[in-house]
Amino acid sequence: MQSLTIYHMYPDAMNLYGDLGNVVTLRRRMLERGISVDIVNVGRGVKADFSKADIVFLGGGQDRGQKIIADDLAKRGPAIKREVERGLVCLTICGGFQLFGKYFKTKEGEMLPGISVFDAYTVGSDKRCIGNVVLDIEAEAKKWKSTLNTLVGFENHSGLTYLEGKTRPLGKVKIGYGNTGDRKYEGAVYNNCYGTYLHGPVLPKNPHFADHLIQMAINRKYGSWARMKQIDDRIELAAHKAAVLRAKTAKTAHI
Ligand code: GLN
Repeated sequence: MQSLTIYHMYPDAMNLYGDLGNVVTLRRRMLERGISVDIVNVGRGVKADFSKADIVFLGGGQDRGQKIIADDLAKRGPAIKREVERGLVCLTICGGFQLFGKYFKTKEGEMLPGISVFDAYTVGSDKRCIGNVVLDIEAEAKKWKSTLNTLVGFENHSGLTYLEGKTRPLGKVKIGYGNTGDRKYEGAVYNNCYGTYLHGPVLPKNPHFADHLIQMAINRKYGSWARMKQIDDRIELAAHKAAVLRAKTAKTAHI
């Protein structure tokens, strides 16, 4: 029987807007395929061997939560980066995404160290990017062998993230603000490591994203593997569609 281990980073300090739901979704979709799941909560000071992780998850957090965990995460940076180069699958959300970049400079000018998995940096701003988001992820969807090429979610951040080097965006903004508030690009991808501002939590309404992360982890651990059996996603896809419609009708929308 296949098994996968999820390292859930700082579940107490970094769990904004129910981002924990992403771990619940990954676990549920693995169990439905007969994959056994081990979830390891990695809080501050908890020993963790990242060579034993199949998926690392880090949720969003207010500036306060980020300040609480930044130094502990920085100590783990070299080990996480090493495994990312070996194909470790990561999903990082908002404040977690920001700390997977080079640094987060808060609005007050405080420099929080990142672990430089993403060639990116974040600066706090007076602009609050908040609202429903719809992304066009056509390029990624092709890689995921997914026919659904949108991602939906909710963003709430004042940090603006600038991508550099080999780190590419996750998608193009159709509705919402995105990484720098200019409504152009959102998120970040480097190897099998994903960052996004999408809360929601993001995975329940984006089953194609969840399955891509699981498939990458399976392929890495067991070699290239036949595509996972399909799950009945009628409810998830109906939720996705409803979220797109709500974003289109919300007053902040722009098309
Ligand atoms: N504190 C960060 C910001 O405001 C991240 C917020 C979040 O995780 N939603 O940009």
